[in-house]
Amino acid sequence: QKPVLNADADKVAAVVASGERDESLPEAIRFDAYRAAGGYALWEAVRSGERATDSIIQALDHAGLRGLGGAGFPAARKWRTVAAQPAPRNMAVNIDEGEPGTFKDRHYLATDPHRFIEGMLIAARAVGIAGIWIYIRDEYPALRRLLAEELERVRAAWPDLPPIELRRGAGAYVCGEESAMIESIEGKRGMPRLRPPYVAEVGLFGRPTLEHNLETLWWVRDIVEKGGDWFASFGRNGRKGLRSFSVSGRVAKPGVVVTDAGITLRELIDEHCGGMLPGHALYGYFPGGASGGILPASLADVPLDFDTLAPHGCFIGSAAIVVFSQHDQARLLAENAMEFFAHESCGQCTPCRVGTAKAAALMKAPQWDAGLLKELGRTMMDASICGLGQAAPNPMQSVLRFFPQEVGAVKGEGA
Ligand code: SF4
Repeated sequence: QKPVLNADADKVAAVVASGERDESLPEAIRFDAYRAAGGYALWEAVRSGERATDSIIQALDHAGLRGLGGAGFPAARKWRTVAAQPAPRNMAVNIDEGEPGTFKDRHYLATDPHRFIEGMLIAARAVGIAGIWIYIRDEYPALRRLLAEELERVRAAWPDLPPIELRRGAGAYVCGEESAMIESIEGKRGMPRLRPPYVAEVGLFGRPTLEHNLETLWWVRDIVEKGGDWFASFGRNGRKGLRSFSVSGRVAKPGVVVTDAGITLRELIDEHCGGMLPGHALYGYFPGGASGGILPASLADVPLDFDTLAPHGCFIGSAAIVVFSQHDQARLLAENAMEFFAHESCGQCTPCRVGTAKAAALMKAPQWDAGLLKELGRTMMDASICGLGQAAPNPMQSVLRFFPQEVGAVKGEGA
């Protein structure tokens, strides 16, 4: 059976926005209920040594679990790499979820937080972690309280756990980038580091660090209990596994949809989102939040997954799908994205700091200078330190490539 979990996103958003007490999150499965339903049995088996951690890593490998924060790095390979580094090793959990259009981590935390915590404890044991730091965005105050309370219960149940610190972000998009997050946890200004060395070798407080997005850890228990084959049995159009799509925009039923990797946008809208809103026809979509570029309606049949969108100059990232219609303009959406990147640039490197501001100004012209914007975009992609500056030109380049009629550019000029 295919899991379809359409989150009651509006309700959760209202609770988060109001800052109400966490008891107002009725969907959350608390510690006692989670344990009563068989939760933490796997953790107990791992903790006692009854379940070998090698078999856990093998199951993740078999499932093909990849980092679901956006980068898609194979989880098992990451665990093995960090485990091979000298101790002490640290762990950093990323719940910054700042990519515009992404709200899947909020859904998992608001409904079933212990499934993530159990995955985190298993990962920590498998890799031999000395300390865990969880970084949660400031915009989720109710969820932070929920997590703090539930972590207290976990610590009370197993007092010999490694220290678990809960750290609050301060609203910077760039702190979702793993090395900037680590700088922020260390109490410094959140600016991405130059790599190498990679955080798996030199990360949090100078130690080898296992860095994971919440959702990646959320799947650990199910994959191990049901088997890697179970996870890999999902997928369509040649892809394998499950993906959590945060769907928003001009669809009838927005929300988190958990379904096959490789599903196309057309299938996603028809099967899970109740179609388009009345009066709206599909015109285009962001397949991976603001940074993943923009695709036109003519590419609504492309499988949505890691690696499948590169030929179109896009990527899926954290699977934030923003659907727009004939009542919208791709150029305005791209302008909005570029202004966001200019605002969120940490300013550390010139191609990004100057490039985003310059591009945002150039994009206001009724007719875009395609040659200049392409050259600027290429410079930003090639010479920026981190993913923010490297991906910032994507929506702009998508407009040149797929929506040239909106900006007066010669068709194909930006392709
Ligand atoms: Fe900072 Fe932008 Fe450079 Fe990243 S690319 S380090 S956000 S200035």
